[in-house]
Amino acid sequence: MILKERDIPFRIMQNDALLRRLPEGHPEIQAIMDDQAKRKAGLRGEQNVSYHLTFLPDKYDIIHDIRLKTKYGQTFQIDSLVVSPYFFLSLETKNMIGTLYFEKYSKQFTRTINEVEEGFPNPIIQAERHQIQLKKWILERKLPILPIECYAVISNPATLIKSNEEKIYQKVFHAEHLPSKVKTFEDQYKQSICEKDYKRLTKTIIKGHTPLKQDVFEIYNLQKSEIRDGVQCPKCHSIPMSYHFGTWECLKCHSSSKTAYKKAVEDYLYLFGETITNQQCRNFLHLPSRHVVRELLLRMKLKQSGKTKNANYHW
Ligand SMILES: [Zn+2]
Repeated sequence: MILKERDIPFRIMQNDALLRRLPEGHPEIQAIMDDQAKRKAGLRGEQNVSYHLTFLPDKYDIIHDIRLKTKYGQTFQIDSLVVSPYFFLSLETKNMIGTLYFEKYSKQFTRTINEVEEGFPNPIIQAERHQIQLKKWILERKLPILPIECYAVISNPATLIKSNEEKIYQKVFHAEHLPSKVKTFEDQYKQSICEKDYKRLTKTIIKGHTPLKQDVFEIYNLQKSEIRDGVQCPKCHSIPMSYHFGTWECLKCHSSSKTAYKKAVEDYLYLFGETITNQQCRNFLHLPSRHVVRELLLRMKLKQSGKTKNANYHW
């Protein structure tokens, strides 16, 4: 059973919002597009690994994409965690094409594609680090501990894995071998914790998830004033649309929509810190009426905190 689904990373949503809202020809657009392409490829790789995990027997549970913080403020992120009352399996996913090489002595990890060789952080070392950090995190909380195994998983079946060290192949393999690898641990780990302890352990891990939220204005050195406000036309992408009696109309292509404002509010929340007031929303959507904005925000089923006049709306 899947105990926690894979969310679309916050940063991907932020990048999309930036690409919609920065003025055409902005010098940072290319850098954002390059970053976004890498992130989306990574996400596709993780989704491919998720697919292979669906072939595991029902006795295994899956926690996808979990980011935990130790008591000392260190954070670590595990792409997929296979859990059972017998053992845990932590997976580090790589979605890379070409030939991957794991060097025995230097522990260097390189990828060669079109005769160009490039070095990257070694996913086996990353997986082993997460294994240690997860163990520490569980011990810090005085939760029952189980054996934790870790693997680096290559999501693309056409990617070649090479090494001058035999035992590397036990630590890194293609996603399609996951079910058979998991099976080998069944014979190895026969002792289990009780169901109550198992539930407490997995629930605490899921509750500990702290998604990574970054300030994209700082990362790309942007000013908040560079973000275009207004509702974007879902058809021709021009900004703004104008509002007449419950309908948004595009000033350019004249198409209309009743819901186009939702994306604008979401963009605001992704970019400007996850809360919006009625006043901020009026400015961003170009709407003069406090009552109309209140009605629209409530229709989005956002949560409201604070008193009516100074209320903050958030997810
Ligand atoms: Zn339009």
